[in-house]
Amino acid sequence: MKVGITGGIGSGKSTVSSIFELLGIPVYYADIEAKKLMVSNLTIREKVIELFGKESYINGELNRKHISAIAFNDSTLLEKLNATVHPVVIGDYKEWVKQQSAVYTLKEAALLFESGTYLDSDFNILVSSPLDLRIERVMKRDHVSREEVLARITKQMPEEEKERLATFIIYNNESEFLITQVLSIHQKVLSLVNDKR
Ligand code: ATP
Repeated sequence: MKVGITGGIGSGKSTVSSIFELLGIPVYYADIEAKKLMVSNLTIREKVIELFGKESYINGELNRKHISAIAFNDSTLLEKLNATVHPVVIGDYKEWVKQQSAVYTLKEAALLFESGTYLDSDFNILVSSPLDLRIERVMKRDHVSREEVLARITKQMPEEEKERLATFIIYNNESEFLITQVLSIHQKVLSLVNDKR
């Protein structure tokens, strides 16, 4: 069984995913793997250089600042970059899933809904947090301004649309216990796995 997990920037999807990992559920962190593949996959590297120039790599390492600065203001280039990276990540994820023996696996991706890859999962979880809390968390974590966080947030799919597409929602605010919610979903997925057997 494949479960997807997503959430807007600063919602806490990585934090929630790490709780699932503690329960023994293997997690594929798609955005981290994508960054790794942008270094290790030769086809991607060549395309990135073609789109963003030689400065995209410094001593073989990805120059994320350079790429994001251009891509943030050029949606056509960003689409081309995604069109190059996405299929490779999808293939890598498929291979990874094959190697897992757990009852279910989790795929964490920021653009799970936007990319349409949520359709490949049996269920999808949305991590939802109040906007102000998300802004505060990211400002603190990334040492960036409120405006920078807001600029990133406004580029993402509206929260209501994500809520509509999600099977389960985890509320990561300051009053609800994350672990209780994770355990409840974990139990539900386990029983759904049993029903399918
Ligand atoms: P991004 O899309 O930017 O990668 P994310 O959705 O994966 O963000 P996290 O990195 O998990 O979000 O969380 C953002 C920050 O908020 C982190 O520094 C994390 O430690 C903190 N955080 C998340 N949830 C909580 C919580 N319930 N209590 C305290 N801190 C939290």
